[in-house]
Amino acid sequence: MKSADVMTGQERQRRLHRIRDRVRRRGRRWTVAKAALVEELLGASGHLSARELHEAMTAQHPQMDHSTVYRALHILAEDGIVHSLGGPGHTLFGLADEPHHHVVCGVCGSVAEIPAGDLGDLVAAAESRTGYSFSAQSLTLAGRCVACAG
Ligand SMILES: [Zn+2]
Ligand SMILES: [Zn+2]
Repeated sequence: MKSADVMTGQERQRRLHRIRDRVRRRGRRWTVAKAALVEELLGASGHLSARELHEAMTAQHPQMDHSTVYRALHILAEDGIVHSLGGPGHTLFGLADEPHHHVVCGVCGSVAEIPAGDLGDLVAAAESRTGYSFSAQSLTLAGRCVACAG
């Protein structure tokens, strides 16, 4: 594994609270399901499929049904807390509170995040060349993950 930045428990807690406040500022309720989803995504520090999320949810909250999880996920996406990438059959969900780009492994489909700041100069150069303004999280690069490259 490459030196993925591992969030400390404290950082994770702070980010969770920031997200909670953002949800509340939008006049939404901060539900058990939303908290559990965000915590799961923070813990995974990456993007997970709806199925992986659901499995993780039911492991911790056996009483939580399918529709509760999906509804919470949908509302979080609507509020811009979570975003999805990929197509039908392989949609992955990740936290969108911190702008980032994606690199997707063409072999196994795993996704890594690239902080938006890392590509800031490139994006600015591409914008001035094309005259387009790029949306914050629009770049998806194709590649091969460490496991698949070997
Ligand atoms: Zn993402
Ligand atoms: Zn791979």
